Amino acid sequence: MKKVILWFRTDLRLSDNLVLQAALKDYEEIIPVYIFDEQWLRKDQWGFDRTGPYRMQFLLESLKDLKEHLQEVGSDLIIKKGDPVTILKSISEKYDCETIYASKEYTSEEIAVENKLLVNIELRLFHNNLMIHPDDVKFDIKRMPEVFTAFRKKVERYSEVRIPIKSPKSIRSPFLETTVLPTLIGFGFEQFEQDKRAVLPFKGGSLEAWNRLDHYFWDTEKLSVYKETRNGLVGADYSSKFSPWLAHGCISARAIYDEVEKYEEEVEKNDSTYWLKFELLWREFFKYTAMRYGTKIFQANGIKNKNKKWGYRPRAMQKWINGETGDDFVDANMIELKNTGFMSNRGRQNVASYLVHKLNLDWRAGAAWFESMLVDYDVTSNYGNWIYAAGVGNDPRDRVFNTQKQAGMYDKSKTYRKLWLR
Ligand SMILES: Cc1cc2nc3c(=O)[nH]c(=O)nc-3n(C[C@H](O)[C@H](O)[C@H](O)COP(=O)(O)OP(=O)(O)OC[C@H]3O[C@@H](n4cnc5c(N)ncnc54)[C@H](O)[C@@H]3O)c2cc1C
Repeated sequence: MKKVILWFRTDLRLSDNLVLQAALKDYEEIIPVYIFDEQWLRKDQWGFDRTGPYRMQFLLESLKDLKEHLQEVGSDLIIKKGDPVTILKSISEKYDCETIYASKEYTSEEIAVENKLLVNIELRLFHNNLMIHPDDVKFDIKRMPEVFTAFRKKVERYSEVRIPIKSPKSIRSPFLETTVLPTLIGFGFEQFEQDKRAVLPFKGGSLEAWNRLDHYFWDTEKLSVYKETRNGLVGADYSSKFSPWLAHGCISARAIYDEVEKYEEEVEKNDSTYWLKFELLWREFFKYTAMRYGTKIFQANGIKNKNKKWGYRPRAMQKWINGETGDDFVDANMIELKNTGFMSNRGRQNVASYLVHKLNLDWRAGAAWFESMLVDYDVTSNYGNWIYAAGVGNDPRDRVFNTQKQAGMYDKSKTYRKLWLR
């Protein structure tokens, strides 16, 4: 039997999964694998856990969902922890299988793993998590438009979003070893209770992703007012909250786009329905930015090579983290992040600007704290937005947020600040 290893990365779903589709077409038997890469289980240079408890919990739930869905169609998921190169090599020997299919990633640590694997084994990579396939953009990636508006206009004009693919009805696998899902405690975290004030009790997995979409689009039709509410701070429905599921690949951006189009046909088409597509293009823009600029998105001077001096004062940093800066809007947002793993887009822009422009601290420390805490951490969206906020990214202007003015505009009645500062 011709066999292939299907290595799941940030594409934890069966529907609209290009890797799975290709594996089913090219091979008779599939060996699905997920690996907790040990490099993401360590502390970073600032002393933060690279994967904090909120994201770990969400990831574990997403894997449970994936494993169950694979079992329903006749397969299973092998789950391991360690160095992906060593583990994949040993799985390939054990199952006598010489090829791996996986999603392409666009950032240096992920690419380094891909390159090491390529030395030892045949690896085929697919653009599984983009909304617009690189073959469908009408520019050379090395010459992609630098600013978002130019990128968006080009893509909107010349590129199509491909139709999502349905989940397979069955997957044939060889007899697979049984592996149990690790626990949060097994990763050294304590089991935690969700904070009652959290915007949503986020739960990982494709089933939950689609439940959220059904709620936001079809049951409540909140999509129709998204553009007016998207700068909100309190509650589940001011924005879609799709980000944690997108970051783990429990749902694809193509599938969301497709549902927006259906909604536009069946319910209504307005500025709000367009705006969700517009925001998904921001996510896309940062993925292409990473493709174009490589490791620069992680460097102090960013993609602009601006010669900025970044300071680092641990006590000031700790106050920012704990929500003890004395700026009530910044503090409320930072407390929300620490207690729930989520913060609104409005909040993120303000606290990032405050760290960089008011405290003059190294933006990379802020980005690392977000990486550790965010339930929806996505390497390209996080670092892309941070370099942008630090003035070393794609924005030609150095934008400084007046956090108190912003609080007056977006939290006039102080409902948000009262919620988190009590
Ligand atoms: C400093 C900073 C760090 C950020 N880090 C992340 C991160 O690690 N992961 C992440 O998914 N988003 C990140 N964002 C972007 C944005 O804040 C979140 O995507 C958004 O708040 C998630 O909530 P939502 O799903 O309800 O968004 P909605 O407003 O409902 O938007 C729908 C989707 O569009 C995409 N999107 C919206 N805004 C942006 C944006 N500015 N950049 C990229 N994609 C966007 C997301 O996929 C989002 O789920 C960051 C923003 C800032 C300013």
